[in-house]
Amino acid sequence: EKTIQKIAAGEIIERPSSVVKELVENSLDANATNITIEIRQGGKSYIRITDDGDGILEEDLSIAFKRHSTSKLTNANDLYRIMSFGFRGEALASISTVSKVEVLTKTNKDKFGVQAFVEEGKIIDKKPVGCPKGTTMIVRDLFYNVPVREKFLKSDISEANHINDIVYKLALGNPGVSFKYIKDNKIIFQTSNNNDILTNIYTLLGEDFSKNLLEINYEDVDFRIYGYISNNTFYRSNRKHQYIYVNNRYVDNNHISNLIECKYKSIIPINRFPVFVIFIDIDPSFIDVNIHPNKQQIKFINQNKLDSKLEYIINSQLNKNLS
Ligand code: ADP
Ligand code: MG
Repeated sequence: EKTIQKIAAGEIIERPSSVVKELVENSLDANATNITIEIRQGGKSYIRITDDGDGILEEDLSIAFKRHSTSKLTNANDLYRIMSFGFRGEALASISTVSKVEVLTKTNKDKFGVQAFVEEGKIIDKKPVGCPKGTTMIVRDLFYNVPVREKFLKSDISEANHINDIVYKLALGNPGVSFKYIKDNKIIFQTSNNNDILTNIYTLLGEDFSKNLLEINYEDVDFRIYGYISNNTFYRSNRKHQYIYVNNRYVDNNHISNLIECKYKSIIPINRFPVFVIFIDIDPSFIDVNIHPNKQQIKFINQNKLDSKLEYIINSQLNKNLS
């Protein structure tokens, strides 16, 4: 039974970056406005996520680490209007099956916080502590009890690069949240939480990316589509710097990338890939995020409508900006 649990856990938690992604998404779901991410040795030995979100009630703590327990869905209909990042209730169960987890958490209702240690999915020690509202999760020695998985991990640098990728995407997509990222005792970046996309782009992607950006900003009853696009020549021409967010969730969507690219090139003829950061806010009942466990793939219920909207928006906004 334990072996089966570990295999199942390995499907959700492939590598240290999966832990970071799941824990940060939990912090976002808990309405955090400040999130600190600290990693050591590519996250293999140490990952800490601290947030100032809602916290977890002591009586809910052991449930949170059980499989298929989530506080985020109350009935089947909710599946069609998911706004939260998590909904399967598998992350904490999986993480605590294949690592040693320490949690510190306090809600608004509690006078004291609680500190707990979790191994093999079970709380092995628990005591009251003084701590601010919010949650800290510390994940130590990932895959210490799954030798095949541990052997499969790449070098510290390579695993850290995977984490960088995830952390930058999360921070870029959530300009209302301040992210602080610490790697091997060094602060890599700290964003502000004033909801300013441009400042966020500047902090995370740098001065060069921020040059010559054209603003996109459109809203109607179905969508809000906004962000920045440019033909920035600083980068080698590839699609690495095309960021698409649907309801603040980073998505991999070649179809939308292509569409934006084609429309852009039809107005501004360039023979390279444009760079962009585009946010699409849409009623969650129009999307299906349920098709892949890592949730970077997404399906739109009415893709044609979105397509024609996007074409229209890129067209009109770019022409307006250029005139
Ligand atoms: P899911 O996110 O799919 O609900 P998880 O296993 O990631 O499942 O988390 C289980 C539950 O633990 C969540 O539903 C939530 O109630 C609670 N939880 C986890 N992390 C946090 C956090 N940082 N702050 C508040 N609650 C949390
Ligand atoms: Mg979750």
